[in-house]
Amino acid sequence: MHSTNSATNSAHTKVMFSPTRILIAGGGYSGLAAARVIASRANLGVKITLIDRNPYATAMPLLPDVAALKIPSSAVTAPLSQLLPSRVNFLQASIQGWDFSHSRVLLDSEMSDCDSIEYDHLIISTGSRTAARPPLIPAENSGIFNLDSLDSAMELGNELYKSLLKAEKSGETLHIVVSGGGYTAVETIANLEYLASSRSLPAEFTLICRSSLLRNHDDWVVQRLEKYLISRKIRIISNCSILEYINSDENGPGSLKIESLDESGQNSIGKITICPCDLMVLASGVEASVQPGESAFTVASPTDSASAALTSSQPTMASSLPDGRLLVDPFLRVRGLKNVFAVGDAAGIEVFQQKSSKPSMASKPSVEYLRRSVNFAIFSGKAAGNNLCNQLDSIELKSFNPVDPGWILPAHGESAGKLFNKIPVCGSTGLRLHYLMCGIRNFSLKNLLYLSAKACKLFP
Ligand SMILES: Cc1cc2nc3c(=O)[nH]c(=O)nc-3n(C[C@H](O)[C@H](O)[C@H](O)COP(=O)(O)OP(=O)(O)OC[C@H]3O[C@@H](n4cnc5c(N)ncnc54)[C@H](O)[C@@H]3O)c2cc1C
Repeated sequence: MHSTNSATNSAHTKVMFSPTRILIAGGGYSGLAAARVIASRANLGVKITLIDRNPYATAMPLLPDVAALKIPSSAVTAPLSQLLPSRVNFLQASIQGWDFSHSRVLLDSEMSDCDSIEYDHLIISTGSRTAARPPLIPAENSGIFNLDSLDSAMELGNELYKSLLKAEKSGETLHIVVSGGGYTAVETIANLEYLASSRSLPAEFTLICRSSLLRNHDDWVVQRLEKYLISRKIRIISNCSILEYINSDENGPGSLKIESLDESGQNSIGKITICPCDLMVLASGVEASVQPGESAFTVASPTDSASAALTSSQPTMASSLPDGRLLVDPFLRVRGLKNVFAVGDAAGIEVFQQKSSKPSMASKPSVEYLRRSVNFAIFSGKAAGNNLCNQLDSIELKSFNPVDPGWILPAHGESAGKLFNKIPVCGSTGLRLHYLMCGIRNFSLKNLLYLSAKACKLFP
């Protein structure tokens, strides 16, 4: 009897004192912001763990500069061990998916010694990755690259430089194609062109857009950047879709088979052309880095009381956008789940439609989602961290209403943007502001000083 009681007591003691487990999945801008808030607010009975596949955080907006060999990789990263508050545990692991019903994050067991990790509260901050679709899938020796991580930026820069030197030696011209007509595509092609032209290496650059260049932007932004790209002899092919990619090999140079589309960018007009292409960079869209998949939305079984208590009475079955971003409520909780927040690029955050000067925009549906940006990632990470702590302390949650500080599109030698969605900024002023902001948001004092100096001098 005595032994039974003491066993029961010790079991109770264990349950009573088992710490609340907060898991932060992803150590980029948003995950770090959340971790810092939670570490400063949560009581010591809370165990905080942050998971990332890399032991460092990466300043993503500087990846085009890394690919263009303009700045070293050390200037865009900082070790998570130095960035995280001491009470936050770090686990290096690759996340495979979410299992909300059983409050588990699924891990790649080849990289870590377990295949899942349980949580009581989860913050999803895994960011985004390039959306690759056949026939354009990046792979070793495929000649197709993306630009969504430090590794990919370094690989692209090194391969491009090697290929340019080879082309120079053999007296040929290297054909480089960037697919995409948005922000990242323009930034990428402008930087890669600089890599070749600053070293007088033989290259031709083509930008292939499915619709028009910088489709949703004001005319002055489009004209300014288009003029710059043309002045750098970058060819822009709009309204077309890539049907086939033939990789360059010993049989001959690579090429793309392209189909022309009508103004809407949807329907073929029946014209097929061939475009030379030795190296291709995908910049035509992104998707959530961890796709929710079926395991995420399996409804909790009625007997699974622990997880059922944490999900609302009717778990939402379709809580993600087609690109995998998880739809969140005004407090940044994944819809239908009380204990899971999504932030930064991983979250589908509804915003009111902004008025556009473009007539084509006015006819769009009224629901829009917050654009992906460093500022919104940091703001949402902080807000979710605070709401999670409010929830633990039974304090009212606050809805997320971010102020938009604006954006700048840096295209190596030109820029265009809008501060607070009102004040136009362009040219070297825009570039300086961009690098200064990258420095301020860039994790370490060393990187801030490096980028501030670059912002003052600008790149040669
Ligand atoms: C080339 C490029 C240029 C950009 N330029 C700008 C710009 O000029 N201005 C601007 O405001 N925004 C820019 N952005 C967008 C901006 O970088 C993102 O909006 C921002 O980084 C989002 O922050 P986040 O915390 O959500 O994700 P991230 O910063 O991407 O962090 C996600 C973290 O999750 C980790 N992770 C992802 N998947 C897994 C997994 N399966 N397992 C384990 N860990 C994982 C990653 O390693 C990373 O550390 C740019 C993005 C790119 C790619």
